[in-house]
Amino acid sequence: MNIKELDSKYIANTYARFPIEIVKGKGSKLYDENGKEYIDMGTGIGVSIFGVGDEEWVSAVTEQLTTLQHTSNLYYSSPCVKLAEILCEKTGAKKVFFSNSGAEANECAIKAARKYAAEKKGAEYYNIITLNNSFHGRTITTLAATGQETFHKDFLPLTEGFLYADAGDLEGIKKLIEENKVCAVMIEPIQGEGGVVPLGEDFVKGLEKLCKENDILLIVDEVQTGNGRTGALYGFMKYGISPDIVSTAKGLGGGLPLGATMFFEKTEDVYTPGTHGSTFGGNPVSCAGAYNIIKRLDSDFLNEVEKKHDYIINELQNSDGVISITGLGLMLGIETEKDVSEVLKECQNNGVLPIKAKNKLRLLPPLNISFEDLKTAVEVIKNACK
Ligand SMILES: *Cc1c(COP(=O)(O)O)cnc(C)c1O
Repeated sequence: MNIKELDSKYIANTYARFPIEIVKGKGSKLYDENGKEYIDMGTGIGVSIFGVGDEEWVSAVTEQLTTLQHTSNLYYSSPCVKLAEILCEKTGAKKVFFSNSGAEANECAIKAARKYAAEKKGAEYYNIITLNNSFHGRTITTLAATGQETFHKDFLPLTEGFLYADAGDLEGIKKLIEENKVCAVMIEPIQGEGGVVPLGEDFVKGLEKLCKENDILLIVDEVQTGNGRTGALYGFMKYGISPDIVSTAKGLGGGLPLGATMFFEKTEDVYTPGTHGSTFGGNPVSCAGAYNIIKRLDSDFLNEVEKKHDYIINELQNSDGVISITGLGLMLGIETEKDVSEVLKECQNNGVLPIKAKNKLRLLPPLNISFEDLKTAVEVIKNACK
C-alpha cells in the first residue's frame, strides 16, 4: 500500500489532506515524495517561522536534546526559565505558564480568568465573552470559546459559561457585561481560522477600556498572531493595548510543540502550587529552540517582516482576480474572484504552498523568507488568481 492508502487505513479520519507528501525541506523550500520543489507559504499553519532546518534553531535544539530531553516539572530546569525571562522582558508580562499547544495555552488562560474572578468577585462570575467567527481550539472548553457553531455540532454539551458577541460590537459587549456575571473577554487580534479578519483598532482599544472599568480580564489569543507574525512581537503590541493574559503557541516553538500563557500584573499570582500543571509543559528541547527564536525577533528583523508585507500588498492588491487583501505583517488573507480551492490547486501545481482560511487564500510564509523566494511565490499566486 502507498502512503495515501496507509494513511486512510490507519490514521483517524479527521483531515482532508492534499494529495502531496512533504518529505523534507530547507529554509523556505519544501520537497514532496517525487522530489518536486515548493515555496512554503503556510509554514505548517504559522509554525516554522524560521523555515525548515534553520541552523541556529537546530543547533540550540540539538544541544539541549543531547544534554537532557525532559525533566518533568518536579525539578528546576534552565531552558524554560530563560525563555520565560526573555518573554517577560520583551512583552511586559510578569509570569509564564508553559504547555504544549494553542488549545492548552487557552485552557490555562480560561482557568486563570475564572480563578481570578472566583477569588475577587465570587464563583458566579464565570462567564467569558468571545467573538463570533473566532477560533480558540478543539478541546471541549476551547471549542465552547470558539464562536462558530459548525465546530460545536455533535459535541454538545460543551463547557458552559461562554457568551458570544460580534467583532466590533462594543455596545453588545457592554450589554452582555451588564446582564451577566463576566470574568473575561477573549479575542484574537486577527481572526485567523475565521478568514484572516483583523479587529478594528477602535474596537480593541474600547474593549480594553471597558474591561479595565469593570475589572474584567482581557485575554488575547495570540496562538497564530504571536511571535513576530504580524510585524510586532505580539499582535497586541501593534494595537498598543495592555492585556491581562496572552496565550501563544504555533510559531513559538519554531516547529516543536510548545504553548505559553503569559500573565500580566493583575493575574501574575492567580495560580498557586497544585492549581494547574502539565507533564510535558516547558519541555527543555522545545524551550531551548523557542529561546533562540524569541531572541532573534528584534526590531530590525520585524522591520523586514513589514517590508515583505508591503511588497506582497503592492504586488497583489490591484492584480487581476484579487478582490481584497486583509491581515497584518506576514499573516494575510486574499479574497479571490475564482473559487479559492481552484486558486490553491493552481498554486500547488506551480510549486507554491499557501493555505486557506474560509473563502480566502491564506499566506503564512516563513518570516525570514528571502525576497527572491517571495517574488517567485507572489508571481505564481498572481497568475493563479487571474
Ligand atoms: C491554531 C489556533 C489555536 C489552537 O492551537 P492548537 O495548537 O491547534 O491547539 C487556538 N487559537 C488560535 C487563534 C489558533 O490559530
